[in-house]
Amino acid sequence: MSGNESRVKAVYEITTAKPFETKMTEPLKKIWASDVFGLQQMEESLSKSAFKAIKKTVQNGAELDTAVADVVAAAMKDWAMSRGAKFFSHIFYPMTNATAEKHDGFVVTNSDGGAITEFTGSLLIKGEPDGSSFPNGSLRMTNAARGYTAWDPTSPAYIMHTANGAVLMIPSVFMSWTGEALDKKIPLLRSNAAMDKAARKVLSLMGETEIATLNSSCGAEQEYFLVDELFANTRPDLLLAGRTLFGASPAKGQQFDDHYFGAIPERVQVFMQDLEDKLYRLGIPAKTHHNEVAPGQFEIAPYFEAANVASDHQQLLMTLLKKTAKEHGFACLLHEKPFAGVNGSGKHVNWSVGNATQGNLLDPGCTPNENLNFLLFCGAVIRGVHKFGPLLRAAIASAANDHRLGANEAPPAILSVYLGSQLEKVFDDIKTGELHVPTTGGLMDLGLSQILKFERDPGDRNRTSPFAFTGNRFEFRAVGSSQSVSGPLVAMNTMLADSLEWIAEKLEAELAKDSDKAAAVFAVLQELMQLHGNVVFGGDGYSAEWHKAAVEERGLQNIPTTADALPAFKSPEVIELFAKTGVLTPVELASRFEVYAEQYVLSIEVEAKLVSEMATTIIYPAAINYLSSIASTGIKLDYSPAGAVAETASAMMASVEKLNTALESEHFESTEAHMSFLASTVRGLMDEVRASADKLETLVADDLWPLPKYREMLFIK
Ligand code: ADP
Ligand code: MG
Repeated sequence: MSGNESRVKAVYEITTAKPFETKMTEPLKKIWASDVFGLQQMEESLSKSAFKAIKKTVQNGAELDTAVADVVAAAMKDWAMSRGAKFFSHIFYPMTNATAEKHDGFVVTNSDGGAITEFTGSLLIKGEPDGSSFPNGSLRMTNAARGYTAWDPTSPAYIMHTANGAVLMIPSVFMSWTGEALDKKIPLLRSNAAMDKAARKVLSLMGETEIATLNSSCGAEQEYFLVDELFANTRPDLLLAGRTLFGASPAKGQQFDDHYFGAIPERVQVFMQDLEDKLYRLGIPAKTHHNEVAPGQFEIAPYFEAANVASDHQQLLMTLLKKTAKEHGFACLLHEKPFAGVNGSGKHVNWSVGNATQGNLLDPGCTPNENLNFLLFCGAVIRGVHKFGPLLRAAIASAANDHRLGANEAPPAILSVYLGSQLEKVFDDIKTGELHVPTTGGLMDLGLSQILKFERDPGDRNRTSPFAFTGNRFEFRAVGSSQSVSGPLVAMNTMLADSLEWIAEKLEAELAKDSDKAAAVFAVLQELMQLHGNVVFGGDGYSAEWHKAAVEERGLQNIPTTADALPAFKSPEVIELFAKTGVLTPVELASRFEVYAEQYVLSIEVEAKLVSEMATTIIYPAAINYLSSIASTGIKLDYSPAGAVAETASAMMASVEKLNTALESEHFESTEAHMSFLASTVRGLMDEVRASADKLETLVADDLWPLPKYREMLFIK
């Protein structure tokens, strides 16, 4: 095919295709968690004593003895085989955002050469994938090649179906033989434990006697684009980089605001229902879905769950989004910025902490004591974001997310906290000492629960803040759509643990002075706000004034690129934070810097090579074709775009030359220097090539343009 034939064919096929054939979805009751080996299934298939033991492990992380593990393994195997599984796999989450698995059969042969099946407790508990196949940063030095996976009983096992079989999937951690964390799950579990430990101290000081295990919760709102596969497959950039490296803006973009919450196209609706059916079977509580701001952009938000389970479910959701989209003839783009000039995709991570006895500690509650607990935990978050803003920024840093942060559509690359005007006033008054121990009536006078119920009204939300309080939780909005939620959750739990430790120490000292509880809380929070109140900001986070004031007046950092952000992992404060809380050893932390930096370098290099190749082999030839077709007419034209096309094509190839030369540079004195070079020089040259190419798109005859255009990819569904 030449010229735009493949484009025309794709448009024809998409617009004349028969609707996707699908079954009616089944009743929720029938399918809910039907592919999950959860507590209910365990209760049905285990003895009373075995069930009691495993339940303790699942709910409180108690250790499991091997005899029980054997019994659970046998029950799990029977359950999985009755659903068609012949294989099992530990599923784990390497330091990249990927999900990894290694399948093993249940089958073993006996001495008669017959096939029997076996699944012991030790197979359930431990697996041995080849550690060297996964990035492990500097840990490579110490761990040779061996890596272990180990069952995480707190996240339920489940079945994944394919067209002709099924596999039992067992959520697992992944570590080196010396026990270092090689994954994203171990730090998450450890950060939860650190938060639990520190929170207990504060709650005990507040007079709570019964304190159940504290856990963080997460509800993640996932944005994504759907593009017809017939288009996506003809674009090397979408195939290999997940975003368009070229493409002129369409005449109509999102300026009419007619897509957000608009009617969902039928084909997309069918896809969503199919996806949700799959999610329900896996016990993933998909709750809302709607159109997003940009044409072709959508969102799905499951109901919140314990952070560890939510994180596993989030990975699974991304896998299923892609897989299901393909079945419906779509490509699902999880990239943070698939289309230049069009709204990008994020993942709002809603986060709270709580337990069974005190409830959600970020919910103000209805008694004076609950209000005080709430103020302390909320204050702890404020301090954490102020002290560790650069860490939070590093936790969401990627080449892809750099396109989005700081643009006029997504949170700025400055970490500040939005509280809402009324809660902000409460904290301001605490800071200035205007709010102190009420003489009568206790803290109910603050009416916090009233205030915050009011705040929950979505109309009152500040969408320009990267970190916003939304009534009973914080919402970290700067997270990228393709990222694992684990990194941000680890950073949030750990900074919270650190702040709660600080609060506990101060509170203990205040209480020792014999002051009453409320007075002690206000004294601690006053000091906290004087030190850290600068991070609270309720204005327009997109404005130029804020970018200036944040840095110049508030002393906050604006960290625009990943190259600037990742070194935070090497700062003494962050090393100390992770070591002190037991979440990551200095070696483990250093390996994360290495892995993330490597990912950044690789992704920009891949894109840059692709820019050079597509410009040279696809776009330049299209321009030349057009020029020769003009020349071949032999007609004397009053107006001919030939001059502009020739000039722009030459300019583009000159930029390609520069880009190629830049890509040949090597021998950087450090990883940081390499990243900075890519951020400052290579990215700029890629943009330069693109500017010419996009101009050519507006000059060259439409029927000779080889790549599907933005208007086609975004508007045809
Ligand atoms: P919006 O788009 O207005 O921010 P959504 O309803 O789309 O709100 O998403 C809110 C997300 O926050 C959901 O995943 C929801 O389950 C989650 N959420 C609600 N309460 C909590 C909480 N206490 N802790 C963590 N997540 C929560
Ligand atoms: Mg939200």
